[in-house]
Amino acid sequence: MGRETMKLMVVSDLDGTLLDHSDYSFDLVLPVLDRMDEAGIPLVVNTSKTRAEWLAMRGELGNFDPYVVENGSAIYDGEKVETFGVSRAEILDFLKSLRAKFKFKGYSDVGVSEIMQWTGLGRQSAERSADRHFSEPLVWQDSPEKEDEFCDLIKERGLRTLRGGRFLHVLGQTDKSKPLQYFRKEKVAIIALGDRPNDLAMLKAADIGVIIKAPGDYVLEAKDMLLSKEIGPRGWAEMMTQILDRLQIPQSTTNNG
Ligand SMILES: [Mg+2]
Repeated sequence: MGRETMKLMVVSDLDGTLLDHSDYSFDLVLPVLDRMDEAGIPLVVNTSKTRAEWLAMRGELGNFDPYVVENGSAIYDGEKVETFGVSRAEILDFLKSLRAKFKFKGYSDVGVSEIMQWTGLGRQSAERSADRHFSEPLVWQDSPEKEDEFCDLIKERGLRTLRGGRFLHVLGQTDKSKPLQYFRKEKVAIIALGDRPNDLAMLKAADIGVIIKAPGDYVLEAKDMLLSKEIGPRGWAEMMTQILDRLQIPQSTTNNG
């Protein structure tokens, strides 16, 4: 593979990887993004967030490349939308049939104020988080045994569950790795970065998988992958700089002060 013909693409998780959990600042990664931009390397954000959430923040990054939302459920590429998950209507329909048997409350059952309480988000952000098309976050209110039983039924129906923080997410049978096949149609080498178990399939499906260190003792375990020394976006900038240096991608000519 000659470097002249090899196209690169960076696919990245957002929270805890490109984005800091505490201050939501992009300052650390902007110089690296300038460098990628000048070299024509796209940054595809692959997030558990909704489309509305990403659209509200991508301007700050100056990023208008294709993106993947709701844990591998759909790619938005200009006017094109490619779906890998199932519609939220279908999910809600199936959940309706389980209500007699299990106790749970989903986003669709409550107003924005309750979502604000659940998530700690402000009103606008909570509204964007509630603007879902392919998944439903649930607050589980039944026993752990019942949760197992519930998850089995979801699976039998051809859907899947994903535990993340306080929510049990119900979504289609997809993950963050599935959309990569869409980008493989063009010959690209994919560098993927992420910090949590829901990123693992994506990291494995990439040519170069990079684990970004999380705060505390948590380390995502995986073989044959690079691991950052620094945490979050600092680790993202550290690893991408290393990789771009090794590939002899020129430094950005933009003066970032
Ligand atoms: Mg993350």
